[in-house]
Formats: sequence, structure tokens, C-alpha cells
Amino acid sequence: MKITAIIGFGFCGRLAFLHLVKKAEKTKILIFEKNGPDALSAAFTSFSPHYILNVPAIKMSAFSDAPRNFCEFLQKKYPQLWSEIGENGFAPRRIYGEYLDELTKQGFVDAKKNGVEFEFITEEVTSIEKNFVINQKFTADRVLLATSFVQSALNAPSQAVEKLWGKDSHQFHEQKFTNETICLIGSGLTAVDVIVGFKNKNFAGKIFVISRRGNFPKKHFAQIQPSLNFISASDAQNGVLFLCLKIRNFLRQNPQFDLRHVVDSIRPITTSLWQNFDQKNKKLFLRLSPYWNIFRHRAPISSVQLIEQMIEHGQIEIRKKGVRKISEENGKTLVETKEEKIVCDLVVNCLGFEFKAEKYALFAQMLAADLLKKDLLLVESNHPQIQLLGGLNIGRDFECTSVPDLRVTVENLL
Ligand SMILES: Cc1cc2nc3c(=O)[nH]c(=O)nc-3n(C[C@H](O)[C@H](O)[C@H](O)COP(=O)(O)OP(=O)(O)OC[C@H]3O[C@@H](n4cnc5c(N)ncnc54)[C@H](O)[C@@H]3O)c2cc1C
Repeated sequence: MKITAIIGFGFCGRLAFLHLVKKAEKTKILIFEKNGPDALSAAFTSFSPHYILNVPAIKMSAFSDAPRNFCEFLQKKYPQLWSEIGENGFAPRRIYGEYLDELTKQGFVDAKKNGVEFEFITEEVTSIEKNFVINQKFTADRVLLATSFVQSALNAPSQAVEKLWGKDSHQFHEQKFTNETICLIGSGLTAVDVIVGFKNKNFAGKIFVISRRGNFPKKHFAQIQPSLNFISASDAQNGVLFLCLKIRNFLRQNPQFDLRHVVDSIRPITTSLWQNFDQKNKKLFLRLSPYWNIFRHRAPISSVQLIEQMIEHGQIEIRKKGVRKISEENGKTLVETKEEKIVCDLVVNCLGFEFKAEKYALFAQMLAADLLKKDLLLVESNHPQIQLLGGLNIGRDFECTSVPDLRVTVENLL
């Protein structure tokens, strides 16, 4: 019997398992998950009820052919919440974790019914050799890599920086902070989460947000907006600068719209645009991506309003700077930028994902074994029986970091 190894049992790994079970493929499935069968990925753990999804419920179904699946779960299990938020609202992330758990448990039951053999292995995969021997003891015929990204590390004494999404981070998320001075490094969606989490626990201290551009994500629209079809995938042939000019002209002539409308309208064709760019324009687009990201990865309106109020009241101060050094002094942490030294009680790493393939131990080993090769953003498969799921396809698809895109990458593959 052929053996399929799924490496990583977060959203994509679980989805791959469910699809293999549904197809009742005559294969044995080995599931490798470093944090064990009950651990959910960083995105959907039960850290805090205050962390909410950044994608509306109607777009969070695990299956693109059953778009209301998550809404139905909410309606059935949490009728009160459902009546409050509806399909365009944002559910707590831990509830999404419960949804995934329920689907997975059903998958385990269906596997037995469909005669699909599987084994769960709580191990971090650190090596896959040319002959498909995993961690020097398991063999497979096909490998589905669903390990996702790791967060960029901060150059600092390890005890000085709070790592947010590790399996031992519960303490931080459950800890009561009251009047401390906190430094967040980064101002993306993770920073938004942390701020909302603090504030919901009645935090009255000070938050410094240090980030090169100091931009928080823009807020979602309250209502569904019209789609503007003035850009097509073939525009990519004219290059990124042409596209920027086209967008600028459009917004000048149509001041009722802003860049969020434009980005939303481009979203369905982002992958085609990216794939139609030549190498030079891909690189140019990457240089613009910090701006693209704040309009693309948006935060719930309530979270943005809260942050705006905290800035107005001086509880949040933004520093548009790079961090030069983080060190410890007399029980406090010192964060140095070019112009100042901020003394704080806690530093929280809110940086985005790491895109240097060498920083991923497994990828470094698989690159050396010629099973992967580097691409513009991370890695791609170099073997027909190794497939990358979800966000790892970022170099190919560019747009594949949230559930609506991820589920399609898994469905297309299986
Ligand atoms: C804080 C946060 C919030 C997010 N919020 C949302 C949201 O609201 N909506 C949304 O659509 N998306 C959200 N995302 C994006 C999110 O990452 C994806 O939606 C989804 O979790 C990604 O699925 P994945 O399977 O690719 O990765 P993950 O779900 O992260 O799964 C990867 C799994 O692989 C395991 N693993 C990694 N390396 C190894 C190894 N070497 N050996 C064994 N196991 C390994 C990890 O432990 C993990 O369980 C969020 C992400 C983060 C970090």
C-alpha cells in the first residue's frame, strides 16, 4: 500500500487529510505534527476569546464547494453569537479552532468507515532524505508539506522577548497586564491582536509600537462593496508602474473609492497578475508589498477604532523606526532605535513571516537533498511526489495566506 505523509496538521494538513479520506484513496496516511494531535495552529488556538478572525465568517468555510459550512456551524453551536455577528461578522478565532477540531474528529471517524489507514506521529520533521525516509525512520511514497511559515525572529536575548504563537505561549495570553510599558515590534495584524487582547483585559499602561513605516492594517468595510473591474490580468504585461498609474488615475477620477476597493477588486486576479509579471516586475511588486499588505490584510472595524482611540489618548505611541538593539538592564528591557532608548517591561515580537528558506531547518535540509529548490519568495518542490500546501506556495501564487485561498490550493492538489 502506498504511504502519504502529511507534514504539519494545521489548517492545510487537516484539510488534506479530510480530502484524502473523502476520496477513500487506498493509501496509508502518516500525519506528522510537532505539537501533537490536539494542538491547533497559531491562528486558531484557544489563547483568548478576544482574538477574532480577520476574515468574515462567510469566507471561512473549510470547503469552497460548501461556502456556508462555517456559518452553519456557528448558527448551530453559537446561535447567540451568530445573531450578533451574522455572516459578515468576525467570529472568535478559538471558535474557528473548534470548527476545525469538529471536522477533524469527523474525518477520523470517516477514515475508519472508508477503510483509510492512518497513524498520528507527534514529532517535528527535521529531515526528509532523497529516498523519502522521514526523520531517519519512516518511509513514504508521497509527501505533502503543510508546515506553513515561521515568524521572523528578533535579534535579542531570548528571555527579553515574548514569542506569541508558540505552544507554550498560553501564559502570556492569559497573564493579566495592568500598568506596564510594552513595546510591540511590528504593526501588522499580530500587533492588532495583541493590542485588542490587552485592552480587553483593561490594560491601562503604555504601548510603544515600533515599525519601519508605522502603518496599521486598514479596516474592513462594514458592507459588501461593488467590485471595480478596471484591471485585468493582462495588464501585468505592461508592468507594475503602469498598474500604479492606472490605479492613481482611476482614484483621481472616482474619489468615492479608495485603495481598499482597488485591492479588493484585484484580489481575485492577484495570482494571475503575479504569474504574468516578469522577474523584474515581480521584484518591483515585492518592494511595494508593505503598502499592498496594509490594504490587503485588513482588520475588523472595531479593532481599528480601538487603536485609533488609544493613539488619540496617548496610550499608544508609534515610532517609525527600525530596531537597532534589544538588551536587558536592571530587570527591564531596553529597545534602541536610531534616536532613542525605550525602557519597557515587555517586548512582544509582532513581526511577520520569515521568508529566508535557510532559516527553516527542514527546508535547509531538503534544499541540500535537492528535494526543494528556492524560488523568489521561499521554496518550490523539486520532486513530483513532494507537494507544498497552502502558504508555502507563496512564490508561485503570491496570494495564499488566508483560508479562502488556502482551501483552494489543497482542493486543486487532491
Ligand atoms: C496569529 C495568526 C492569525 C491568523 N488569523 C487568520 C484569520 O483570521 N483568518 C485566516 O483566514 N487566516 C488567518 N491566519 C493565517 C493562517 O496562518 C492560515 O489561515 C492557516 O492557519 C494556515 O494554515 P497552514 O496549514 O498553512 O498553517 P498552520 O495552520 O500554521 O499549520 C502548520 C502546522 O505545521 C506544524 N509544523 C510546522 N513545522 C513542522 C515540522 N517540521 N514538523 C511537524 N509539524 C510541523 C505546526 O505546528 C502547525 O500545526 C492567521 C495566522 C496567524 C499566525
